[in-house]
Amino acid sequence: MLELRPNCEYCDSDLPPESTEALICSFECTYCRTCAESVLQGHCPNCSGELMQRPRRPIDALKRHPASTKRVIKAPKT
Ligand SMILES: [Zn+2]
Ligand SMILES: [Zn+2]
Repeated sequence: MLELRPNCEYCDSDLPPESTEALICSFECTYCRTCAESVLQGHCPNCSGELMQRPRRPIDALKRHPASTKRVIKAPKT
């Protein structure tokens, strides 16, 4: 089951479970559309897999299986 992470791993912007701006790779690294289409060019920087739009979980299902609230953020490379 998807975690539905609450933020972009790259820029830390909020990505609520109903957002259509969230993209994920097969390992569920999560990015906003802006990062995915600009700096990342459609590929996950962690695993180089393709980024696809994250499916939205219906409200009823979210009540039973809530989205993750644990933010995942990569420290910027120095
Ligand atoms: Zn972002
Ligand atoms: Zn990945």
